[in-house]
Amino acid sequence: MDQYLYGVVSAEMPANFELEALKSQAVVARTYTVYKMFKGSKHANADICDKADCCQAWISKDDRFAKWNEDERESNWNKITTAVDSTIGKIVTYNGEPINAFFHSNSGGTTETVANVWGGTDYPYLQSVETSGEEEYSQYASTVTLTKEEVLQKIQENHPETQIDFNTENAIQILEYTDSGRVKTIQFGNVQISGVEARATFGLKSAKFSVDIGDSITFNVIGYGHGVGLSQTGADAMAKMGATYEQIINHYYTDVKIENI
Ligand SMILES: [Zn+2]
Repeated sequence: MDQYLYGVVSAEMPANFELEALKSQAVVARTYTVYKMFKGSKHANADICDKADCCQAWISKDDRFAKWNEDERESNWNKITTAVDSTIGKIVTYNGEPINAFFHSNSGGTTETVANVWGGTDYPYLQSVETSGEEEYSQYASTVTLTKEEVLQKIQENHPETQIDFNTENAIQILEYTDSGRVKTIQFGNVQISGVEARATFGLKSAKFSVDIGDSITFNVIGYGHGVGLSQTGADAMAKMGATYEQIINHYYTDVKIENI
């Protein structure tokens, strides 16, 4: 488990993040793994895979070293292994069971609930919480600019019936936001889709965005990822302000405990 987690933490979080942030990532990644092992995997022949957009990222030590400058390899690796080893056996629990420990890169200031991203019912330990300091990170703000034709084509891939008259006011209109400020429903001409679908359709880093309509269409995006659970950049920002990994975990997951397996 801990050998595996070295590869997860070094793939999921930059080694120059604070040690307490890396520890929180180690405990969350261990929890996420245990949950998949005992509560059910998405995969028929494996507990977990190494894709960040499916389960959680993993990288081999050799591949990781190849991406680090030579003079920082040993110190980076020591920091990663320290984060894992100093939290050995620790997982996040709710009512005595491992939580489904979702995490993401940057919440854009407020995390999201499960139901607003994947539907279904919300988890009591995955509430929307505010987080500060994330705007200091490159993952915070991004833009995607597309031509009007490109916007129409991309929407039509899933909704062939779509027609947009860009000469009319409200050709593209955000209709509803979630409580965390992400787009819940957005209208493109005669078609309404969810903010989550718009994120996937246009390759936006998050569902928290505004739209500028000019000669082209620009999506101004805040945050990076689905927004549920721990924010990695938020964890680093908290650690910079003196928070321990326990405090970080208890901020992003509501009413949980950190227990030994
Ligand atoms: Zn997977």
